[in-house]
Amino acid sequence: MALELKNTSLKELAKLYDYISMCTHCGNCKYGYEWGKTANFAAMLCVQGDKFHFDSYRGSRGKSAIAKGLLSNKLQWSDAVAHVLFTCTGCGACQQMCETDIKPYILRMFEALRSEAWKQNVAIPEGIKKWSSTIGVNRNPYLEKHENRLDWLPSSIRSSLPKKAEYIYFAGCTASYRQKNVALATVKLLQKLKVDFTVSEDEWCCASPLLRTGQYDLAKEFVEHNKELPEKYGASGFITTCAGCYRTLSRDYKMDPPEGYTDKFGKMENVKVIHTIQLIEEMLNKGEIEFTGSFNNTVTYHDPCHLGRHAEVYEAPRNVLKAIPGVNLVEMYRNRKFSFCCGAGGGVRGGFADYSLETSAKRVREAESTGASVLTSTCPFCWRNLTDAIEMIKSPLKMVDIVEIIEPIVKRK
Ligand code: SF4
Ligand code: SF4
Repeated sequence: MALELKNTSLKELAKLYDYISMCTHCGNCKYGYEWGKTANFAAMLCVQGDKFHFDSYRGSRGKSAIAKGLLSNKLQWSDAVAHVLFTCTGCGACQQMCETDIKPYILRMFEALRSEAWKQNVAIPEGIKKWSSTIGVNRNPYLEKHENRLDWLPSSIRSSLPKKAEYIYFAGCTASYRQKNVALATVKLLQKLKVDFTVSEDEWCCASPLLRTGQYDLAKEFVEHNKELPEKYGASGFITTCAGCYRTLSRDYKMDPPEGYTDKFGKMENVKVIHTIQLIEEMLNKGEIEFTGSFNNTVTYHDPCHLGRHAEVYEAPRNVLKAIPGVNLVEMYRNRKFSFCCGAGGGVRGGFADYSLETSAKRVREAESTGASVLTSTCPFCWRNLTDAIEMIKSPLKMVDIVEIIEPIVKRK
């Protein structure tokens, strides 16, 4: 039966009507599987379905049914609907599995649903409401003061950075206020590698948490501000160490609707966005990097959803790890496009901390099962959630970002 568009007041959702109609409810998005090529693979990839079990929580099928129900006036808004919408981490595993024409717009549909939820009298998670009420002043979702954003950067390094440079290192909120170890290791590494970069005195949140939770009006100010930074610093690009910043700057700032948001915020044109791990791989391939030591450990790599499934950067981190002397890289069963989310994304860490950590603990257990002693990744937000889970379940694993592994044992040739 054709979907009838009866509720046109849901403007953000109605824009995606044609795509939402294309969901056939086949249910492919509820599991991860692949048959044939080298070996068969099957596993649960949806963190939300793994926790809440009911069909509406599992993959995109339930969410597209909700969207259809709301658009056709067959379903009314309720706290239960809001719970389904806000417990999804936006990991993208369901989008990965879909084989119909709605596929490119699935995550966008989730964000549109959330943006509509803010306008209804339904239970938006308190943790999300809390940071959202102050981000317009603080410019970060951690309730920290904007003027303290660069506290992670030692004054000796800060004073040595140029006023104009080829790249701006965009540290992001998590590395600026929480995982300062990752930000510091990154600037030390970039200096060692003689990369022409600087750090902005006025970086704001990239807007990832706002976009992922459907807060478009607030996001606009942030995108418009950050978009101007390259011109101010004479830069041609941004370097990020955060997977979320990478996804947002490289896709949300650049992609046109219906997948992207350039209709709302304008387009960031002629600005390169590169993740640190891509930069390192590039330099390795050009023979510009030399290792001066080794990292003698068995290591397993966690694919951040925003770098992996969202941006399809799977091999660069693995190629870099394999190039480090002493590293024995072993894979978790769920890896690359079939990775399992750390549980932090989509506002879930702020909105449902216990569920977020429970998810992260599942990932840590999977990492333990490889026999690795070190768990590594390329995202400070994953670092935080996985480290908290390691501490919670008293895992023997040590969490280290790849930049932290490399920085002490590398030099520019
Ligand atoms: S979102 Fe895609 S995979 Fe999921 S039920 Fe709809 S058509 Fe099938
Ligand atoms: S994005 Fe991830 S958590 Fe959300 S429904 Fe899809 S698979 Fe589940």
